[in-house]
Amino acid sequence: MPEIPEMEIYKDYLNRCVKGKRIDEVNVLRAKSVNLESTDFCQVVIGRLITEIMRRGKYLVFQLDDGHYLLTHMMLNGRLFYVTTENLETLQGSTSNQSPKALMSEIVHSNAEDLRQRIKGLPGKVSIVFGLSDGSVLLFCRLTLGYLHYLGQDQLETKLRELGSDPLDPNFNAQGFSQLLEGKKGMIKPWLMNPKNIAGVGNAYSNEALFRAGILPTRSISGISLTDKMNLYNSLVTVVQESIRLGGDMEEPFAPWDDFTGGYNPFFGVYDRVDKPCPVCHELIQTSVVGGRNAFFCSHCQK
Ligand SMILES: [Zn+2]
Repeated sequence: MPEIPEMEIYKDYLNRCVKGKRIDEVNVLRAKSVNLESTDFCQVVIGRLITEIMRRGKYLVFQLDDGHYLLTHMMLNGRLFYVTTENLETLQGSTSNQSPKALMSEIVHSNAEDLRQRIKGLPGKVSIVFGLSDGSVLLFCRLTLGYLHYLGQDQLETKLRELGSDPLDPNFNAQGFSQLLEGKKGMIKPWLMNPKNIAGVGNAYSNEALFRAGILPTRSISGISLTDKMNLYNSLVTVVQESIRLGGDMEEPFAPWDDFTGGYNPFFGVYDRVDKPCPVCHELIQTSVVGGRNAFFCSHCQK
């Protein structure tokens, strides 16, 4: 599942590629992925300008020029894909005498099978397509559990109010993190992964942060010293920032020209590395189920 680094990379790409553009055409191929009737959704979204893209936890928020927002969550499998008019011209089945806008319109209103055949590198079945004012196309793929909701400011605030602190929030620090853990019971890893405590941290980066801090995923919160809490906060922020800098761990690129996404994959110390040597002590990485998810750890480096 995409976590903070992957969504932050999407946010940066979207601000570079779609910010300031108008949504000229919309096709909802999976009606359950939107919160209105498909025709109503198209009606309110078409003609809107995308003024900004923001991230909160694992959510992306598209700010529109009518005071509303599009809130998207990728959940387990959701992916974004972006193609420019130049990319579209090289698509299978495109004819050179078509204007870029006509080609964009044809692509937006294709069915999922046609899109799969025509767009090389598409990360999966398309759920929603946006045709933008410059003829480029933004595709929301595999939103089987994920969604794209059109919300007013109050609705958005209510939804985001449920979220805990974001590790990249400049107003959040090691002291605030330690305070959140004060008096809490239970194991540390499920606590870290609960979005009501910390927003945007999932299985991959909770495992990595705990490894770097030398804390076992099963450690009881009440037994963690103040120094270790500070270390854990710093480890979490560092691993998230490193991953953003190197491209995150998502396998599917954002666009045909994107060779940055996924660059952090080889750098995981423990996550998804069972029976491989620990990068610090060379003992084999172990796994066990903690709070319903796979924990990965080094029993020598983590206590
Ligand atoms: Zn080790």
